[in-house]
Amino acid sequence: MTSTLTTPLTRTGLALRGVTLTYPDGEQRLTALDEVSLEVAPGEFTAVVGPSGSGKSSLLAVAATLLRPDRGQVLIDGQDAGALSAKARTALRRERLGIVFQQSNLLASLTAVEQLLVLADLRGTRPRQARARAELLLASVGLDESKQRRRPHQLSGGERQRVNIARALFGRPSVLLVDEPTSALDHERGAQIVRLLAEVTREHSTATVMVTHDQALLGEVDRVLKMADGRLRG
Ligand code: ADP
Ligand code: MG
Repeated sequence: MTSTLTTPLTRTGLALRGVTLTYPDGEQRLTALDEVSLEVAPGEFTAVVGPSGSGKSSLLAVAATLLRPDRGQVLIDGQDAGALSAKARTALRRERLGIVFQQSNLLASLTAVEQLLVLADLRGTRPRQARARAELLLASVGLDESKQRRRPHQLSGGERQRVNIARALFGRPSVLLVDEPTSALDHERGAQIVRLLAEVTREHSTATVMVTHDQALLGEVDRVLKMADGRLRG
């Protein structure tokens, strides 16, 4: 599939510049992100930690170009998302971003491999190539052939999270955004998922941002940033 974007394909990762986001709050506005700036280079695994309500999911939604900030810029591979048309922004998201949300939105009726093949269909990838890539990615996140043929309810929480990660990688994203990937897992399985994210960040050279309120799982990350009341600090 040819890119609908006109920018060069240089992968420079993610940058947020002075991003402020507010939500309506009765008569007033609630400031969820307050002048947040952040740069994540390709191959860099950054964790953002902070208590519930500090703005972590809002940060990811803005970085994912799903929410438009009141002020500031979001750059994906140097492309200013706010300057694009809605159509071009959707294309940017599809071609450059991998997103793993807090709730796994796997489709109940599909097997693990089919969760990835749905995307191939959307992208117009040739079926045989798509299947080979889906199987390779699922194997690389630790799901063998028999697991690849299971539906979500036949997989453990950790295995479902692996499917989510493989699915996010399917489109060869530059930027990988991960929201609380370990919140439903015990400590050991959570640690395995964070190790996996560190591996995929190196292997796929993604600019990876993982947000979490769990400070116990940060041994594998390159950098930890702290979020409090919508503000980010190193
Ligand atoms: P975290 O992910 O760190 O728990 P969030 O980004 O979800 O934090 O929330 C940050 C703040 O914004 C919180 O005060 C939350 O209540 C508020 N908030 C989040 N989403 C919305 C929304 N859609 N409308 C209004 N307020 C919201
Ligand atoms: Mg959250």
